[in-house]
Amino acid sequence: MTQFLFVTDLDNTLVGDDKALAQLNEHLQQHRQEYGTKIVYATGRSPILYQELKEQKNLLEPDALILAVGTEIYTHGSPTPDPDWSQILSPGWDRDLIVSITANFPDLVLQPDSEQRLFKVSFFLPQLAAATVLRKLEADLHKSNLNVKLIYSSGQDLDIVPRSSDKGRAVQFLSQKWEFVAEKTVVCGDSGNDIALFAVGVGRGIIVGNARPELLQWHNENPNDYHYLAKNVCASGIIEGLKYFGFLR
Ligand SMILES: [Mg+2]
Repeated sequence: MTQFLFVTDLDNTLVGDDKALAQLNEHLQQHRQEYGTKIVYATGRSPILYQELKEQKNLLEPDALILAVGTEIYTHGSPTPDPDWSQILSPGWDRDLIVSITANFPDLVLQPDSEQRLFKVSFFLPQLAAATVLRKLEADLHKSNLNVKLIYSSGQDLDIVPRSSDKGRAVQFLSQKWEFVAEKTVVCGDSGNDIALFAVGVGRGIIVGNARPELLQWHNENPNDYHYLAKNVCASGIIEGLKYFGFLR
């Protein structure tokens, strides 16, 4: 047994089966103490919504947190995001300019303040208006030399974030910082917004048994030996996958 970098999505991946979560926590806690394994949560949740879940489910204190669609990385419990990652995201990002351009689109409704971040501007956008608005908005943003991407999900949420930002690249940033090779890195997820975690590099990946159709479809279209589709759901699927890859006994 040696140390590894453990990265997991929270909702419906790590969290969803309380009994299995308690078991997995025990394994991870012990591994961290004995071998220096690092635990990272990668979630679309903002800091406020993450704290809520952490308290509710008694999550282990992570070594790093990747929040807000990969735009913020917090290491070792620091209250401020990692400045080196922020620096990578900065070129071509101008929050005020983005907000002023979006003001020309009456269909866009700003999400609550807690979801507005330094490197993320978030709106509600009704599905019916989405195609037209996204096309025009993307063109307007690029005309202003902004290096951004638009992520539209669940038929209602629009996030505008730096082009170089996603959960997968954030994991790469951490694995380089902490000097973990790909074979000692494992990511776990259940849905479409976790594809970025699996799509970067050749690290190991665990797709939990309750994965959503969009992730399963991606997995079927991009099969490889590095990714394992678990039979069990949530944390129980993670334990199954960690054993499959030999990270746990
Ligand atoms: Mg999830």
